[in-house]
Amino acid sequence: MDFQFTDAQQAFRKDVREWLEANLPGDLKDRGFAATRPDPEAVERLRAWQRRMHEGGYVGVYWPRDFGGRGASIVEEIILYQEMARAGAPQFVNRGGLSMVGPTLMKHGTPAQQRRFLPKILTAEELWCQGFSEPNAGSDLANLQMRAVLEGDTFVLNGQKVWTSMAHVAEWCFLLARTNPDAPRHKGISFLLVDMASPGITVRPLKQMTGESEFNEVFFDHVRVPAENLVGGLDHGWTVALTTLNYERDLLTFIRHISFRNALDRLLDLVRQRRHADDPVLRQRVANLVIGERILQLNGYRGLTKILRGGQPGPEGSTAKLYWSQLDQALAEVGSHVLGPFGQIGAGSAWAPDGGQWAFYELLAQASGIRAGTSEILRNILAERVLGLPKD
Ligand SMILES: Cc1cc2nc3c(=O)[nH]c(=O)nc-3n(C[C@H](O)[C@H](O)[C@H](O)COP(=O)(O)OP(=O)(O)OC[C@H]3O[C@@H](n4cnc5c(N)ncnc54)[C@H](O)[C@@H]3O)c2cc1C
Repeated sequence: MDFQFTDAQQAFRKDVREWLEANLPGDLKDRGFAATRPDPEAVERLRAWQRRMHEGGYVGVYWPRDFGGRGASIVEEIILYQEMARAGAPQFVNRGGLSMVGPTLMKHGTPAQQRRFLPKILTAEELWCQGFSEPNAGSDLANLQMRAVLEGDTFVLNGQKVWTSMAHVAEWCFLLARTNPDAPRHKGISFLLVDMASPGITVRPLKQMTGESEFNEVFFDHVRVPAENLVGGLDHGWTVALTTLNYERDLLTFIRHISFRNALDRLLDLVRQRRHADDPVLRQRVANLVIGERILQLNGYRGLTKILRGGQPGPEGSTAKLYWSQLDQALAEVGSHVLGPFGQIGAGSAWAPDGGQWAFYELLAQASGIRAGTSEILRNILAERVLGLPKD
């Protein structure tokens, strides 16, 4: 593993750091920790921020130039995320667009789709949500039941999606629907791009225990989608979806430790401020988190090195998500322990430490072992595909 950055990468880091110091609005600073995104007003501010970053040349850093990106490598993208965390900048609001559907369209989309959609992903003019999960298709995604029937040059969609983050503010949704119910489960699925303003779509926010509604139920009642919005060919959606999920997992694998480091620094401040630094039991727990963060980082670098040498990320990438979710929950727990009863006071109260972000973090962290692959499923992958244990 090469831990050194090249001179050009160091120069890029310096540029980003200076740019962020000069451009990050005060009201967005330090919103990266226990970030909330779902209310429409916050989304508008974050859209403006992504647009500003785009004007500065810092969105789509590792997208090829032909697609409106900077044409740099994933190392520069990671440097960007490190510097954003260091500056306390919020993450990009159009994550579904930038790290999921954008790269998917670059690989599987038609030139017309790439021209139509990619520029507005970069500027956050069009936000994207991911319509994969359904009431009976989460871990077992291939069980999805939503139907799309081709009538002339239009697909007609009927069915329901669930847990669709940002659907209430997104302009577009990339989703999976069953186009051939007679084919084997993985084979009769198509990947479609759906305008969220289409007649027949109903979005119902679901209230989470954080008190917010980040995700939604989305109902489709005879929704008409032009056939030109099909990606990767009829009934070939499963292959396309795997590309999308791989892109999501890869980038997250490399940047997770960065946001975790951010939260850890907050925790260290908290421990010092609350005069817990001499508590020997707490010191052990904090030391475990610090060691965990380092392991997460090194494991990420190992995967990155493999990719930079031309390899493909393999199933061992599941360790990163599994390990991160455990650390994330442990960190939230230590934060609550340090704060005692104050840790339960949410935003809006003068008594809430750090503006209520710790109370929010503790509740939000419960989702870490579910979203983007549950811990049980990841353990199955590791058991079967990495350790080679028998399936049953
Ligand atoms: C905060 C959040 C945001 C999300 N955003 C989105 C989004 O934007 N778009 C989207 O499409 N989805 C989204 N999801 C959904 C997420 O992908 C699913 O929750 C996840 O895939 C699990 O599916 P499920 O909830 O249906 O649970 P299930 O798959 O029903 O699982 C229930 C329980 O059974 C366990 N289990 C299931 N199968 C097995 C097995 N074979 N072996 C052992 N244990 C098993 C699971 O681990 C889990 O504990 C989001 C979820 C969360 C929490």
